[in-house]
Amino acid sequence: MSTAPHSRQPPPRRVVLATANPGKAREITALLGDAWEVLLQSELGVTPAEETGSSFMANALLKARHAAAVTGLPAIADDSGLEVDALGGAPGVWSARYAGPAATDAENVARLLRELAAVDGARRAARFRCVVAFVRDADDPEPVLAEGTWEGRITRSPRGKAGFGYDPVFEDPTDGLTAAELPPALKNARSHRGQACRRLAECLGVLHGCGPAG
Ligand code: IMP
Repeated sequence: MSTAPHSRQPPPRRVVLATANPGKAREITALLGDAWEVLLQSELGVTPAEETGSSFMANALLKARHAAAVTGLPAIADDSGLEVDALGGAPGVWSARYAGPAATDAENVARLLRELAAVDGARRAARFRCVVAFVRDADDPEPVLAEGTWEGRITRSPRGKAGFGYDPVFEDPTDGLTAAELPPALKNARSHRGQACRRLAECLGVLHGCGPAG
């Protein structure tokens, strides 16, 4: 998804990334590539926005607008999470706070495995979803939005050491490896965030008449 082009100017290459999650920051910085000078909002003294939205899109946009408002720079934010069919789409936008407001990744994973203890293999389908938002400034009337989805299933126990969040219990059916067992480049090639960031980069390239960004 993206908005229609409304400018022919070259893209502003300096951008603030509105996340406090080091795992996401690593992935998004790698995915955006060398053409972008990515500054982390923490380096610029931005206090993270409260995630009050009820959708990934609403939260991504409010985080990007907040970072742009505080810094005066263009901003990129993502909002992402895990949707589990047997839990009616939970934890969804609550993924980071599933086991409580200050929950660790391990606590969130432990709650997820507890909730799914009685759910058999065929019913453990899940997906990661990510929406990435780019705003030129805080009031940008035409933000650029892109999304990605990664289908998989929840394992019975954690496997793998890479990544963050629910990676150790999210299994990709392609090869039966969890996201935490994939090398970072392979996770980025498959993941919801990888898809969303590549689409965003392409939209920004098209938007500014310079072809798909790579
Ligand atoms: P938020 O976007 O800051 O609300 O946080 C999203 C939460 O979803 C993260 O803290 C993780 O718990 C989970 N999540 C999102 N993307 C991933 C991923 O790529 N791997 C594992 N967990 C993820």
